Amino acid sequence: MKVTSSEIVISAVKPAQYPDVNIPEIALAGRSNVGKSSFINKILARKNLARTSSKPGKTQTLNFYIINEVLHFVDVPGYGYAKVSKTEREAWGRMIETYITTREQLRAVVLLVDVRHPPSKDDVLMYNFLKHYNIPTIIVATKADKIPKGKWQKHVKVIKDTLDMDKSDSLVLFSSETGQGKTEVWSIIEHYTS
Ligand code: GDP
Repeated sequence: MKVTSSEIVISAVKPAQYPDVNIPEIALAGRSNVGKSSFINKILARKNLARTSSKPGKTQTLNFYIINEVLHFVDVPGYGYAKVSKTEREAWGRMIETYITTREQLRAVVLLVDVRHPPSKDDVLMYNFLKHYNIPTIIVATKADKIPKGKWQKHVKVIKDTLDMDKSDSLVLFSSETGQGKTEVWSIIEHYTS
């Protein structure tokens, strides 16, 4: 998709604040620092639309972006940040669960994992949660530029095996440095939203 416009619509914490528009939605999730903001900025060709907001103490919100007036991206706050309190983690869990289980416009979730490491326990939990609710999932393995090309497939296999990935889900190697994977990600998103 050629992105001609993208802007933030709202930072929401509860369903009453979700945009009341019936257009397809793609949510983006991953642990803090995985490269989610960089991914969003890269595929929207924006320098600084999505910003890292995973620091403890900051309000954890679902950030809705509208793309070309026809599609929403929903940036889910990053998980796995060690210093987040139990109370905050629980609030995060309730917010995500409510969104995932009630939002009819949701077509698929992009789950970002770092290509260099096996998926964390939290990544596995998140993937299993999405599969439990039958949400199509696009695994994006970030920071592909940080490992040599010859090792990509070995790392891809570790990710697929650790997640016990469903055959119907896709995995895309991505780099926000080189733009690798951008076209492929868009064609998968278009498949789920058109
Ligand atoms: P977020 O917390 O998931 O939103 O992660 P950020 O997008 O803020 O990225 C975390 C760090 O990883 C930053 O220092 C980025 O510059 C770096 N980063 C993100 N994506 C890539 C990538 O594809 N390649 C490289 N080399 N670094 C990346």
